[in-house]
Amino acid sequence: MTVEPRSESHDIFNQSPPYEDVDLFASDRALRGAVAANGAGGEDAALSEFGRHWGTAAMFDAARVANENTPKLKAFDTKGFRRDVVEFHPAYHGFMAESMRAGLHASTWTRDGQRAGAPSEVARAARYFMVAQVENGHMCPITMTRACVGALAVEPAVLQKLAAKITARRYDPRFIPWWEKDSITLGMGMTEKQGGTDVRANTTAAMPAADGYAITGHKWFMSAPMCDAFLVLAQAPGGLTCFLMPRFRPDGSVNGLHFQRLKDKLGNRSNASSEVEFAQAFAWRVGEEGRGVRTIIEMVQLTRVDCVISSAGMMRMALAQALHHARHRTVFQKKLADQPMMRALIADMALEVEGATALTMRLARSFDLAGSDAKEAARARLLTPAVKYWVCKAAPGFIYEAMECLGGNGYVEETMLSRLYREAPVNAIWEGSGNVMCLDVLRALSREGEAARAVLGELVNACGDLPGAREAAAFIAKTLAAADGEAHARAAVERLAMLAATAALTDSGPQVAETFARTRLASPRGGTFGTSDLSGTEVTILSERALPAA
Ligand SMILES: Cc1cc2nc3c(=O)[nH]c(=O)nc-3n(C[C@H](O)[C@H](O)[C@H](O)COP(=O)(O)OP(=O)(O)OC[C@H]3O[C@@H](n4cnc5c(N)ncnc54)[C@H](O)[C@@H]3O)c2cc1C
Repeated sequence: MTVEPRSESHDIFNQSPPYEDVDLFASDRALRGAVAANGAGGEDAALSEFGRHWGTAAMFDAARVANENTPKLKAFDTKGFRRDVVEFHPAYHGFMAESMRAGLHASTWTRDGQRAGAPSEVARAARYFMVAQVENGHMCPITMTRACVGALAVEPAVLQKLAAKITARRYDPRFIPWWEKDSITLGMGMTEKQGGTDVRANTTAAMPAADGYAITGHKWFMSAPMCDAFLVLAQAPGGLTCFLMPRFRPDGSVNGLHFQRLKDKLGNRSNASSEVEFAQAFAWRVGEEGRGVRTIIEMVQLTRVDCVISSAGMMRMALAQALHHARHRTVFQKKLADQPMMRALIADMALEVEGATALTMRLARSFDLAGSDAKEAARARLLTPAVKYWVCKAAPGFIYEAMECLGGNGYVEETMLSRLYREAPVNAIWEGSGNVMCLDVLRALSREGEAARAVLGELVNACGDLPGAREAAAFIAKTLAAADGEAHARAAVERLAMLAATAALTDSGPQVAETFARTRLASPRGGTFGTSDLSGTEVTILSERALPAA
């Protein structure tokens, strides 16, 4: 991009050039290391091609456009008949088409809905990590579509009917019955006004009807309303049950999903989140009556992993923007990136992203192996909530600090940082908020205690003699086992995530594993970035790894 170096009144200088037209993969050593360490090194060339494409100025600008032009609900037509459609800007559709072409909604499944096997989870996570650096809103239906297969697995006949359309890679946004479409997307409706965490309080009612159920009630949050079908929870005669609710009834008429309004959200603005009434809406049962939570949790677990990937990806972009700016901006006759305090700050932030990246890809690896390896299944079970807790909570504060590195420029809407900042909190809130994640770790320990303790042991072994690892493991075990463990669970779960990050770094970023352990496990840094005790050499290593010099 060429810029005019003179305005009418003054020369323009000392502004950093835009950070764009970059290879989001090749420029990210932490990501490359984590991908290789977790079995997807063979994808390097394809990931680099993907990273170059998603790192173009055109993609960055399309993301701005998709978020400035928010979706509109068209509840009725001009004559007052219900339409219940949501219109999206073409830029949003463009992202949907791109992500589906790349298989982000389905590449971890075969065409008949079985696990694709290693390293499909890691390879997809690496792509998702890069997409999250550009546009997150459209990833909501992409995430839910890929995750729904986990829940549909309990109904092989239904899955068989839908799998080919779920895994098809040509985006088809037409509002027509699913069986007439090239591909379909799926969403999820659990949250009601009286409770999102406590879904057992759902009041939506499901009554058996011809070939299925008729569902009546409301959902207070149901995102991506133009999906072709939704997994919803409702009270059937036998208790809370999971259902698959299509937008069209089997006879081809529009189903009874009546959208009330769209949420006016802090971020995630390219994506629509609806409030919806179900008026005798037709649905198929998924799993047994009364097993609704047990069934849909398979979907929820996968969506939690995507929350982690999204947050880690956003942190990476914020770091890259901050470091890029600091390398070009001069203050007091010296580049910001060479000012001692800014160097220490950015290095500390880079270390945080190293940990988040390693942890994310290692978690994806567990999902790659969980089907055939009980230890990895236990690892995925225990660490998914812990990692979601830490990474998703770290992102908003991290992005704010990156924003400050750009000074006033970071705070204005034209920069990507303000959008990332508004986007970030949602990953911690939905799909199990922070406290709920800690409760889930406690649940894993109480129900599958032996396997969970074995995971803890493996993490300690992987850390070897790294500082603070054994003490952290002892603290986690003692705190979570105590009678008042619930009250102190946040401290223990945060440590668990740090321990797991250290263990992951021993494989994917051994150059910084000791630094991470020392500053995150042995003597944790202060409440802000830039407070870790890093040597000059460590600062140099971290900065060089974070972004190649221009
Ligand atoms: C942008 C957006 C899109 C969404 N899209 C969807 C969607 O598509 N489908 C869908 O079903 N839902 C969706 N949600 C809803 C979301 O999943 C819920 O908001 C979330 O699960 C929390 O539920 P809640 O809002 O009812 O809060 P509550 O359940 O009331 O929780 C409030 C707080 O209390 C904490 N808490 C809960 N229980 C305990 C406890 N026992 N001990 C200590 N603390 C506790 C929680 O961690 C949370 O911080 C969306 C939300 C947002 C913001």
